[in-house]
Amino acid sequence: MIFRKSKSLHISEYQGHKELSLQNHQSEFLKPEYIYIPLIESGATCECLVKEGDKVDMGQVVAMRTGNFGLPLHSSVSGKVTSINKKMWHTSGKMVPMIEIKNDFQERKAANIKPNNVDSLSREDIIKIARECGIVGLGGAAFPAYVKYNSPSPITTVIVNAAECEPFITTDYVLMKTQADKLIRGIKYVMKATSAEKAVIAIKGNKHEAIEILSQSIDQENIVIFKLKDVYPAGWEKHIVERVMKKTYKKLPSDVGAVVNNVATLIALADAIENNLPLIEKMVTFTGYGLKNPQNVYLKIGSLAHEVIESIGGYIEGIDPAYMLAGGPMMGQGMIFDSFVINRSLNAVTVLPKLEEAEEEPCMGCGKCCAYCPTFLSPILIKNTLEAKDEEGLVALRADKCIECGICSYVCPSRIDLTVATSKSRSIVLKKGRN
Ligand code: SF4
Ligand code: SF4
Repeated sequence: MIFRKSKSLHISEYQGHKELSLQNHQSEFLKPEYIYIPLIESGATCECLVKEGDKVDMGQVVAMRTGNFGLPLHSSVSGKVTSINKKMWHTSGKMVPMIEIKNDFQERKAANIKPNNVDSLSREDIIKIARECGIVGLGGAAFPAYVKYNSPSPITTVIVNAAECEPFITTDYVLMKTQADKLIRGIKYVMKATSAEKAVIAIKGNKHEAIEILSQSIDQENIVIFKLKDVYPAGWEKHIVERVMKKTYKKLPSDVGAVVNNVATLIALADAIENNLPLIEKMVTFTGYGLKNPQNVYLKIGSLAHEVIESIGGYIEGIDPAYMLAGGPMMGQGMIFDSFVINRSLNAVTVLPKLEEAEEEPCMGCGKCCAYCPTFLSPILIKNTLEAKDEEGLVALRADKCIECGICSYVCPSRIDLTVATSKSRSIVLKKGRN
């Protein structure tokens, strides 16, 4: 099935809707026939370390991310490499080369996956394991966790980003309710790795059930819960750090002594530290009014989205025309096909029937897009400057500060597609800065 390219990256008419994926029990998708490992991650190329015909174990390193922040990528199944250059749809909306591995369903683990003597691990050991197990930020950016733990600036506070503010997505909420003890252990490992004195779990104040469960699991006074307001983007890293630390920063949270991890990242870290288990499985929210049975699915990284969707009952009848998003409705990437590969940073797949679209009207100069932008940008000015092809103007307007949150498109009464313009402008300014 071919999906409509969403007019904007963001289909922001939708708010909330978290109950949708919580109404059904979570399921598993752990036996894909093939898995795929992308040879591009967060814009960095990955060096392939296997060749066609090689036999691989589950958890074996099959590729290495190159560049400043090197990081291994692991096979999530045991089996045989059937291609090392297969072009597949990626969550970026592009086709990229991938390693294809045929599952032999034997779940033969790599030899190094075995329990660690956790008490004897030093801070250096924790950082090394986080790197070797490929732990990345699971909030979407796939930034290597070990780099944050190895900060040259002194760290005082570990902040757990438990806001999960994007509509529809519920993986962190489910993980907090079902794996609270493991989350607290993950927090303690980061505290040890960074020598932080305390940890703060920043969660929306209306998540009563999760707060109750977490409170019961917390067993030391220097781990506390901090309640956030139910606003978007409460989960924006800068917003959380400012609220918790009462300080702001220019470049990185470590400038003010903080390291920020989200819930899923800390749970993956606990698995890595305790059992040397690489990041090969994760929970993903499959949601939206286009699916018969929206739910959270625990799956093998590298699975194909359409196979998971079929396994949970498929699409509702007569769904066409519809939108398919790799991610949530505010920050997700519009996809044309559902045959894309679920990589290690993807947290949701959202399918939404196409809404009646009102015509775009001329800007009425209401100033709402500027007033609501969390990074204090002027989205309409950026859009006009982009259309005028004025790159220096985009630099002056600080378009690189856009966090692609989608709010400007959402609040615009004239339904102007501002986020696509600000997002493009951001890339232009960042590219200019690199040249
Ligand atoms: S300009 Fe960027 S950061 Fe500001 S509201 Fe729009 S998408 Fe969000
Ligand atoms: S919100 Fe829309 S109508 Fe208002 S100033 Fe911005 S672009 Fe113009």
